[in-house]
Amino acid sequence: MTGMTSSARPLLNRRLAGFGTTIFAEMSALAVRTGSINLGQGFPDTDGPEEIREAAARALLEGRGNQYPPGPGIPELRTAIADHQRRRYGLDHDPDTEVLVTAGATEAIAAALLALLEPGDEVVALEPYYDSYAACIAMAGGTRVPVTLRPDGGAFRLDLDELRAAVTDRTRLLLINTPHNPTGTVLTREELSAVAELAVERDLLVVTDEVYEHLVFDDAVHLPLATFPGMRERTVTIGSAGKTFSFTGWKVGWVTAAPELVTAVRSVKQFLTYVSSGPFQYAVAEALALPDTYFSELRASMAAKRDLLAAGLADAGFEVFRPAGTYFVTTDIRPLGEKDGLAFCRALPERAGVVAVPNAVFYDDQDAGAPFVRFAFCKREEVLREAAERLRRL
Ligand code: PMP
Ligand code: GLN
Repeated sequence: MTGMTSSARPLLNRRLAGFGTTIFAEMSALAVRTGSINLGQGFPDTDGPEEIREAAARALLEGRGNQYPPGPGIPELRTAIADHQRRRYGLDHDPDTEVLVTAGATEAIAAALLALLEPGDEVVALEPYYDSYAACIAMAGGTRVPVTLRPDGGAFRLDLDELRAAVTDRTRLLLINTPHNPTGTVLTREELSAVAELAVERDLLVVTDEVYEHLVFDDAVHLPLATFPGMRERTVTIGSAGKTFSFTGWKVGWVTAAPELVTAVRSVKQFLTYVSSGPFQYAVAEALALPDTYFSELRASMAAKRDLLAAGLADAGFEVFRPAGTYFVTTDIRPLGEKDGLAFCRALPERAGVVAVPNAVFYDDQDAGAPFVRFAFCKREEVLREAAERLRRL
């Protein structure tokens, strides 16, 4: 510390102390260091459509987006996002006042929480929660109030009574994520109706992270919260090109909401990145207009990968929670005689040459999260087969 500061005060502020390095960075570094198959961090190992990559290259070479794009995002992309919401969900948004392009969903989450929270406000969030939620609530000086999804009939489900009981006079907003990372749960119409009724009854804002909206399998359906009665005006909906088009490195995300909410989120966003991803914005505008076959093929291919990895994990002795959506399958390691997911994941590269993520890092309630481990299946089938083969040795 000497030479940097005269006091013994820690450099990282108190609000963020304890967050350390994200589990995704830790586990991807571990995979590289040990030469393991990386089923930890959720990114596809094949890139999205060639025509969309060409669109990005074209934009870049033609000088579109190489200088600062407009603050709210290029008009072509904002229009494409509004068209997508209308075509898919019947949601009407004015591209000029109700759509905001962000540096991935990550910035959208940060800007929304920093904009909408006052210090001391409570945020009710589904637990396990995506790691940036906790960090951003903390940055905003808010207090997170987790409602734990619990195993019930082969999936993790939301207890609506627990959700209602979590709301207090200090609650400012509900932070929802469906399809849900890491459990793969897709909230049902009944569950979402109850969330909506609660939000209206208690006059709460809702931030809903729907980045996996196109990754739902079998007969599961993604229903945006903003489509429920009373929700259009109180909901900030977040999407991302990363998951929908397999370009997680492009960092193009977006917010759709009522004008006052978009204005509030933009007020923060302009001081975070101001703008980002210029040429990629042109490409994502084209991607959103891809025909329905693109989306159905993505779903079918991801469902097949899920089946492959879920079967491999079951063969290897894990209890498998078959996900209805997302990139991820959550397992229970207790049938393997293990109970500490964190220790299990740290040892797994050595034992089996595979990297996974301990769900405990997404919990406040460490006991509730301890035995669960998440594996990503957004990988080539031969990679998933090899991982399954290795895990059988456990
Ligand atoms: N929300 C959830 C639930 C996610 O899983 C992720 C990332 N994978 C994000 C947000 C961040 O998305 P982006 O990469 O677009 O910032
Ligand atoms: N969302 C991805 C996951 O859950 C990782 C994103 C990140 O590394 N920040 O694995």
